[in-house]
Amino acid sequence: MSKVNQDEIVSILDGYNKEDLTIATLGSHTSLHILKGAQNKGFKTAVVCEKGREVPYQRFKVADEYIIIDKFSDIVNEEVQEQLKEMNSIVVPHGSFVAYAGLDRIENDFYVPMFGNRDILRWEAERDLERKLIKDSGIRMPYKYDNPEDIDRAVIVKFPGARGGKGYFVASSAEEFEERIAAMQERNWIEEEDISHAHIEEYISGTNFCVHFFYSVLHDEVEVLGMDSRFESNIDGLVRIPAKDQLEVGLDPSYVITGNHPVVMRESLLPQVFDIGDRLVDAAKNLVPPGMNGPFCLQTMCTDNLEIITFEMSARTDGGSNTFMNGSAYSYLLFGEEMSMGQRISHEIKKGIKENKLEDLIT
Ligand code: AMP
Repeated sequence: MSKVNQDEIVSILDGYNKEDLTIATLGSHTSLHILKGAQNKGFKTAVVCEKGREVPYQRFKVADEYIIIDKFSDIVNEEVQEQLKEMNSIVVPHGSFVAYAGLDRIENDFYVPMFGNRDILRWEAERDLERKLIKDSGIRMPYKYDNPEDIDRAVIVKFPGARGGKGYFVASSAEEFEERIAAMQERNWIEEEDISHAHIEEYISGTNFCVHFFYSVLHDEVEVLGMDSRFESNIDGLVRIPAKDQLEVGLDPSYVITGNHPVVMRESLLPQVFDIGDRLVDAAKNLVPPGMNGPFCLQTMCTDNLEIITFEMSARTDGGSNTFMNGSAYSYLLFGEEMSMGQRISHEIKKGIKENKLEDLIT
């Protein structure tokens, strides 16, 4: 299977009527602000929607066109791609789009122009690649254990795929690791084959900041557009129980993400934030050309020595950007107006059209 060829994408883009572009995405994840942001910038919008999931797009009135499919993964089907191209669509990827379309299909046979770098999506999905990119950037990450026998401090154990924290657990010894694995299997939260793929890393005790960056190819600048912190079930509920009762109730903590809230960071920490964003963009240019173009997110913990440690990255619009659909404290500083991540994407596309550089923004 050969990879989607950039020349072919550019020739599809050349055939588009630039006065009549559509911004399209899969109806899930961050599509509301992606589509609303496109409308704000004067684009037509289309949502590719699983049958029965239309209501939010209808009620919030963010989509001009609906392509209704039986199941999310049908977005890569030939007919859907044809419909999208007929509408002169640029597709904006997000977490659910990547999960349902599948990396192989996106890389090999999704011939619709996409905003950003389609090749970098694999680098967030595969832990080894993700780690390589972050390490090559010189960004501090949690220590990784290759063998449960080596566990010598508090660790968090994760499993493959984006499962919103389901099945994660903490342990501080090899015995505890085995006990917790058995408990997760009993709950049917992990399968036998997940165990050999368990990712064990140092547990960073600190406060969570997920930083939403946008790298503008046109300005060659990394922007901080917003920050969120996660609501996680049941850990956030568990910590509301007094410590002595926590021991008695015997509940196992879990880290399933259920929502996000906007946050701001101590101002003195912001130099570190810009530093990690700039570093990642520099490294990505070399490792995965054309680089980390457009939205990305670094998920971090800030320790009590005020060190920011990055434990995860999204190489596209991250779910936490839903916290600033009408702008954040940081997007206000930069733009002085409402600016969601979705709006920022469409703003860039509009500028790309004006400056005749759209092909630099698309793969
Ligand atoms: P992730 O799926 O990697 O985004 O992780 C889900 C949640 O697990 C995070 O939001 C954190 O609460 C927690 N977490 C993940 N990695 C670490 C870590 N190295 N140290 C402490 N907590 C973590």
